[in-house]
Amino acid sequence: MEIGGLAAIVGTEHVLTGAATRGLLGDMTESRGVAGHAEAVVRPADAGEVAAVMAWCWEHGVALTPRGGGTGYAGGCVPQGGVVVALERLRDVRSFEPLLWRAEVEAGLTTHDVRRRARESGLYYPPDPGAGEQSHIGGNVATNAGGPHAFKYGVTGAWVTGLEVVLPPGRLVRIGGAVRKDVAGYDLRSLLIGSEGTLGIVTAVTLRFVPAPEAALPAIAFYADEHSGGEAVQAAMASGIVPAALEFLDREALEIVRAAFPFDVPPDAGFALIAEADGDLASAQRGQAALHELMAPDALAVHLPSAPAEVAALWRWREGVGLAAAAALGGKASEDVGVPVERLAEIVAGTRAIGARHDLATCSFGHAGDGNVHATFLLRSGDATATERAHAAAQELFALAIELGGTVSGEHGLGGVKNGQLRHQWDPAAVALHDGVKRLFDPRGLLNPGKKLA
Ligand SMILES: Cc1cc2nc3c(=O)[nH]c(=O)nc-3n(C[C@H](O)[C@H](O)[C@H](O)COP(=O)(O)OP(=O)(O)OC[C@H]3O[C@@H](n4cnc5c(N)ncnc54)[C@H](O)[C@@H]3O)c2cc1C
Repeated sequence: MEIGGLAAIVGTEHVLTGAATRGLLGDMTESRGVAGHAEAVVRPADAGEVAAVMAWCWEHGVALTPRGGGTGYAGGCVPQGGVVVALERLRDVRSFEPLLWRAEVEAGLTTHDVRRRARESGLYYPPDPGAGEQSHIGGNVATNAGGPHAFKYGVTGAWVTGLEVVLPPGRLVRIGGAVRKDVAGYDLRSLLIGSEGTLGIVTAVTLRFVPAPEAALPAIAFYADEHSGGEAVQAAMASGIVPAALEFLDREALEIVRAAFPFDVPPDAGFALIAEADGDLASAQRGQAALHELMAPDALAVHLPSAPAEVAALWRWREGVGLAAAAALGGKASEDVGVPVERLAEIVAGTRAIGARHDLATCSFGHAGDGNVHATFLLRSGDATATERAHAAAQELFALAIELGGTVSGEHGLGGVKNGQLRHQWDPAAVALHDGVKRLFDPRGLLNPGKKLA
């Protein structure tokens, strides 16, 4: 590939090749052996340059893989040749209108920066996927990322009113904007949200916010196993309040992070449930008390932190669970299956049984209220066949999730690692529509090839 044309668009110093691309061709699937290759990584400065890069690639038949913060768990930004379009230089806040609860930000701003900007003005941007200091808002849109507080507030898409996106063959298009309701056309905004860079490249996002809740008060309860824990999840949902978050860890996950937990963990705990009530101080306190009352009966212990520093420590600890699981034996293959909430205990127990059949240690944790489970197979460093066994185990896990009425992916997407799974889950007619949408947007198949295929 002759890259002079790309250098003419973005400048020579922003076309990286060879060793300079190191660290820009992978994501979190690296620890399970997923590796990418590309002829160049380009770093456009703005939306106009993204459009020009796509037009150049289209003309030369070169594949493009959009890259955000590289924190994905599905290999979505891992290129299979062609050019990586890294969005890291698109970091402007184009407009911020706190009194109208909204902002337009460029795709490369980190999730953390968006949340911080909102908070500084007394506002709240709820989506909080766990790698927010590194993940980009564009990557969050492309994966429709969730996080602990998606239970009450919804996933990223619930907070996006408009997109600026580069579509093949290199056109900059606006879909939606600051308007909060818009049913004039088919919902193209939702179609692009979660499309994992296979339909277009997001260059800017119009977000809505809400006034920040005054207080957030968690209740953490420990149970003997996932069966009593699963019952407690349903009890918390019947508490009469909408918990802001309902997170869980199974016995093995608790074991991995027990030492770092900011409070005491009972020695026989086999399941932890973290619920949170938010709102003005009085309602958060009432909510915490209601959660306590319903979660306590079968619990081995309950903690009710109230100091902001304690609450912050709890969520920092929760954010570290995934990385601690990866470090436990040297690597992990972590899936993100989703099931109806009342099937939570079955998928947790099923993950453990599948792991045992493939001689793999497991742990499960995640978003209990959403039935979204990070079912994790631990990979021991030096175990030459662990990755292969984890792949086989994952196929059984996906089948179980579907059998339980669930999904193969609750929040990470199909990316490259779950390709082809959708056709086990969806009706053939729906799969055909899925394929047709891809062809309509990207008739030459140049946008993130090999990803999110049904
Ligand atoms: C510790 C940890 C905790 C996590 N917790 C959560 C969680 O709670 N919930 C959750 O949902 N996820 C979670 N994740 C996964 C990950 O952070 C999210 O999927 C995140 O949205 C990915 O954003 P990114 O910018 O890193 O995207 P990348 O990994 O760079 O890319 C992800 C996909 O989006 C595409 N893409 C990226 N930017 C654009 C763009 N501008 N336009 C079009 N396509 C684009 C890529 O091609 C790829 O297909 C976690 C990850 C880690 C490491």
